Amino acid sequence: MANIVKKAMISKPQIIVEYTAKIAKVADDKLRRRYLPIFDNKICLLTKHKKQNQILPVLRAHWAGELITWDSFDTDILGSFDGKTARVMSPLQCALKKAHIACELSGLNQGLGSEGSFNGFLGMGNMNEEFIAFVDIRRKIEIVGVARKMVSLQSCVAESPEALDKFISQFAPEQAWILETKCNEFKGLFGIDSVLACVKEDDWPVTISPDFRAMHCPERHITLEYATKDLLKRLSAKCPSCEYPGFVFEKKILGLPCELCGSPTNQAKAYQAECNKCRFSVSKNVEEQQAASFYCPMCNP
Ligand SMILES: [Zn+2]
Ligand SMILES: [Zn+2]
Repeated sequence: MANIVKKAMISKPQIIVEYTAKIAKVADDKLRRRYLPIFDNKICLLTKHKKQNQILPVLRAHWAGELITWDSFDTDILGSFDGKTARVMSPLQCALKKAHIACELSGLNQGLGSEGSFNGFLGMGNMNEEFIAFVDIRRKIEIVGVARKMVSLQSCVAESPEALDKFISQFAPEQAWILETKCNEFKGLFGIDSVLACVKEDDWPVTISPDFRAMHCPERHITLEYATKDLLKRLSAKCPSCEYPGFVFEKKILGLPCELCGSPTNQAKAYQAECNKCRFSVSKNVEEQQAASFYCPMCNP
């Protein structure tokens, strides 16, 4: 297995953009009318945590092929949420690597891999970011979809069974928990009864944290669905010159003139799409002609 991991290529990261729920909805309607001839009849998804449950329904709207899921590869050796295996790659690189490993293990030309992360965000909660990578090793295509979403999940130190119950009951019953006591750690616990069954009388206080593994974390499911929709959007956006996918307008070109003094501001005046294969590029101006003076370095230094 170690050889397989070493052999799988790490590809250069692409520029990515934030992808909101609102955009996902618009893209969804457009995608429904589009055919994705890029997919083979069989694609392999590398997942230990049942991500096909979120990914396949999104693909199904556009593709009738067979999704082979490969669950015997321990994806946690590439880094795990409990921190026991350090993450040396970025989530994007990790998603691409999993997609390449899917091809290598299955012998298929097309693979999917996905990776998520959680980061504290200005003390407001956790930002969940999900990447899903598609690779076609024969045609040398690598495209990565991404979505980000704030989630309410957090950890807590509980002093008593009542405090623990109050904390857990704020979240969906399908959310699993990790309990840390003085000497032990228990993962994948659902509901207050199964958590309390692991706590001995002299264990209090105990630490309870969300189990972020995909099959145990309903809040990730939504983000993963959006990321898959973003992937489809990118796959269906082809370069006008060479037809390589991923031709999306996401590179900001700053300098929209200030409404008061006309100086260039730090707001986008256009968005550029650039082909990752032939480097053909097109830019589209934004609809606004002027930026609010709030963004102007001269009027609002
Ligand atoms: Zn091109
Ligand atoms: Zn100004």
